[in-house]
Amino acid sequence: MQKSIEHIAGDSEGVSYEFPVFRFEGLRFDGSDKAAPSAYLQAALHAGELPGVVAIDALMPMLEKAEAEGRIKGDITIVPQANPIGRAQYHFGEHQGRFHLGTRTNFNRGFPLLAAPDPTLLPDATSGTADQRLKTRLLQLSIGHDIVLDLHCDDEGLAYLYVHASLWPAMADCAAAMGVDAVVLWGEDTDGTFEGASITPYLNLPADVARFDRRVATTVEYRGILDVDGALAGSDAEGLYRLLVGRGVVLDQALSTPGSFTGIVAPLENIDMMPAPRAGAVLYDVKPGDRVAKGALLATIVHAPGEADGRTQVLAPQAGIILTRRSRRIIRAGEDLLKLVGDRKSADARSGTLED
Ligand SMILES: [Zn+2]
Repeated sequence: MQKSIEHIAGDSEGVSYEFPVFRFEGLRFDGSDKAAPSAYLQAALHAGELPGVVAIDALMPMLEKAEAEGRIKGDITIVPQANPIGRAQYHFGEHQGRFHLGTRTNFNRGFPLLAAPDPTLLPDATSGTADQRLKTRLLQLSIGHDIVLDLHCDDEGLAYLYVHASLWPAMADCAAAMGVDAVVLWGEDTDGTFEGASITPYLNLPADVARFDRRVATTVEYRGILDVDGALAGSDAEGLYRLLVGRGVVLDQALSTPGSFTGIVAPLENIDMMPAPRAGAVLYDVKPGDRVAKGALLATIVHAPGEADGRTQVLAPQAGIILTRRSRRIIRAGEDLLKLVGDRKSADARSGTLED
């Protein structure tokens, strides 16, 4: 395993950022001498989302053991903390790792959506603002890998994946290997998420070149922001390892094959985000994983405490499963209360990009 340090120049004098990259060089062939797929894993693109960081920390010894035993077949590149810029951003004592303070741009938006998987089409990695340079560098590191995993987390939630519809159901084995609860399928990225930038270059290629049967690109939502936990990190690392073995990046004949995926699969347009009708304190009546009927009470917003009509109830617009909810209980009018994966298309379906 090789460790190297990437450097990103800051936007002002005396400021620069760095992050480590770990590379396992594979034997390039799987057990039957076919070309082995390569993999790229990154975590904490939204710098404060740590469940994936600790999962990678638990995965590394498994990969080092495989390397020592000559079982790494495909090249593996790992970036455990992909966003040193966001990592350093504190605003009045609170960490802000989602948006770049200098440009107000979400760190998981504004990635270039290339017409082909060719890193030479990327912008110059020395131009633009620091967050743009970081994005270019992350794509330079990831483009061309058969398997690209971007590890995030939600606010409070189940473990779930975003997957482009062209990769489903071919990626059902990955969802089963990782043991996630749900998969949300999307069709078009207009905002330039990292996942979108990872899959879009292949969408216009002939099927035998794009190889959707062996390609993996996904945003992994490892539950909630507070789910940074040793036991979960261990089981998530095992899930990542099972995926790498299942797809032939790592050889491990002792590992049993996971069964078929039995979790929720729904298109993005089925998600109801439930904007709050009032500002106030949120009393949730549901939690992630709950199945709700149409009209079920989701939450009560206490907007005028102590007054007879000071509470507003929020009801489920359709039947479905609660995927996520907020970790904080303070809300403004119009902010989203939760993600309800409905059984059918949401009347409030938001077009375009995934919600990370
Ligand atoms: Zn995120």
